[in-house]
Amino acid sequence: MDCIFCKIVEGELPSNKVFESDRIVAFHNIKLEAPVHILFIPKKHVPSMNDITAEDAEAITEIHLAFKKVAKDLGVDETGYRIINNCGNDGGQLVPHLHYHLLGGEKLGPLNR
Ligand code: C5P
Repeated sequence: MDCIFCKIVEGELPSNKVFESDRIVAFHNIKLEAPVHILFIPKKHVPSMNDITAEDAEAITEIHLAFKKVAKDLGVDETGYRIINNCGNDGGQLVPHLHYHLLGGEKLGPLNR
């Protein structure tokens, strides 16, 4: 499958991983939009938030637990951080493999419309 994030999961493309389990991976975004910018993905190819099913519940739960672990590991748990999922065209989703952004390391501005 021609999916950039599936290739990261398979190790066919490089990534700077900060967390990995059987179901999920978290890695540094190649283009930082904050001093800390991590992407969290399920290993399974789920195209977007619209495609989540009950079968994905364990991976989604693991992703939520990984948010707080990685935030602590990278020293932003106390200062705070933001989690974002872009879904579809209007949501600004560029990569069609479900992913969540964790942004932190500075005071973030209000959400842009
Ligand atoms: O949510 P959205 O689809 O817009 O974001 C995709 C993100 O994936 C971008 O922030 C981009 O920098 C990141 N990316 C990456 N490594 C790649 C390809 C894209 O970190 N190899």
